[in-house]
Amino acid sequence: MPKPILAIVGRPNVGKSTIFNRIVGERIAIVEDKPGVTRDRIYSSGEWLNKEFNIIDTGGIEINEEPLMVQMRYQAELAIEEADVICFVVNGREGVTAADEEVAQLLFRSKKPIVLGVNKMDDPSMHEKLYEFYSLGIGDPYPISGSHGIGLGDLLDKVVESFPVEQEELYDDDTIKFSLIGRPNVGKSSLVNAILGEERVIVSDIPGTTRDAIDTPFTKDGQDYVVIDTAGMRKKGKVYESTEKYSVLRALRAIERSDVVLMVINAEEGMIEQDKKIAGYAHEAGRAVIIVVNKWDVIEKDDKTMQKFEQKLREEFLYLSYAPIVFLSAKTKRRMQHLLPVINTVSENHTMRVQTHVLNDVIVDAVAMNPTPTDHGGKRLRISYATQVSVAPPTFVLFVNDPELLHFSYKRYLENKIRDTFDFTGTPIHIIARKKSE
Ligand code: GDP
Ligand code: GDP
Repeated sequence: MPKPILAIVGRPNVGKSTIFNRIVGERIAIVEDKPGVTRDRIYSSGEWLNKEFNIIDTGGIEINEEPLMVQMRYQAELAIEEADVICFVVNGREGVTAADEEVAQLLFRSKKPIVLGVNKMDDPSMHEKLYEFYSLGIGDPYPISGSHGIGLGDLLDKVVESFPVEQEELYDDDTIKFSLIGRPNVGKSSLVNAILGEERVIVSDIPGTTRDAIDTPFTKDGQDYVVIDTAGMRKKGKVYESTEKYSVLRALRAIERSDVVLMVINAEEGMIEQDKKIAGYAHEAGRAVIIVVNKWDVIEKDDKTMQKFEQKLREEFLYLSYAPIVFLSAKTKRRMQHLLPVINTVSENHTMRVQTHVLNDVIVDAVAMNPTPTDHGGKRLRISYATQVSVAPPTFVLFVNDPELLHFSYKRYLENKIRDTFDFTGTPIHIIARKKSE
């Protein structure tokens, strides 16, 4: 089920990224470059009243050197096109400005639900300033303070209430949805064509187009797939489309709709930071991941080349140690035949359920071999029982005496033990500690 999208729009310095960071909280770790630097993240997820949604800070999509009004128009256009609900943020201390009025007009015409946040209302004595914002004609102004975290609850109530009731899922559960992500020119489009051009692939006539990508459904050997191609889509005339951050945003959205993510890299170039960032997002989102090393034809090889290449990738991608690596060439089609079988396998692992008693045997053996940690006071972690609570990604709950005692390193140890017993190649697994009720 795709999550609904909230976009934040407003003039510079009204507090958009402060509000964004408040709503997002601590959720994203790996994707972030440096904590505390605003505008590093323009896309993340939030949750309110058990409703999960995605959030875009349109102020983060900079278009160089354009005058304020032009920038504002791009932001509004982006929000109107991408979002289900728009949060329009204004500065309550400055009152209504001409730019606010113009943006309000644009947003209003779109007929999308708009929630008006009047920011910098740090204390209630300022609320009399609110009334002038009714003149924008977009409904009740919500007084908020991004920096103090005041009023956001009421604002989010309204946001969540305005989301569309049900988002339609286009494909049935047995269909494997996969996307290709990676920088321009690594060969994503060529790979899509090579996959679709393989023998016995039956491509459906009508590809579906979403906001971000072209979906092509196809069938091979009785298995249904959808390939989500972000690269093949080049909309014209939208300035923000050409910005790098927007293409990252689009990749992130494709990841979210996928079961399996193919992280495509060019064999000649290897990994760069941007790749790591996007792969980190796939990992965080709990998607199955395959690393595809394309253009393998241009590499001069001896019998150790692949091994060395793999070793280097593994060092760079520590948290993706579970991801299989496929070396191939979309151009010569060498080794292309390996790709769909690997997709099938990781997809199966991604949705695998293990038997509870086998899981508990694994945990008991693991604890016997390497005792559970203790805290400074000597209190020892006790694991009473383990069970798998969900799939995609496989998620395990350990019922314990005190969840705080399950440290990262011991969790990692248990994860490795679980992986030694069950084949979870290609999929992250989550382990959660819960306090055992007496
Ligand atoms: P953006 O450009 O719209 O993303 O604005 P920022 O989030 O970067 O905030 C601009 C400035 O306003 C920063 O100095 C913030 O600390 C400040 N700010 C944000 N929210 C509030 C608020 O609720 N009250 C006050 N007093 N200052 C705020
Ligand atoms: P995208 O931007 O990631 O979709 O990349 P394209 O599929 O458009 O490919 C970029 C360029 O790389 C094109 O000139 C392709 O012909 C070339 N290319 C794609 N795959 C391969 C490959 O496996 N080997 C070689 N040598 N070139 C390739």
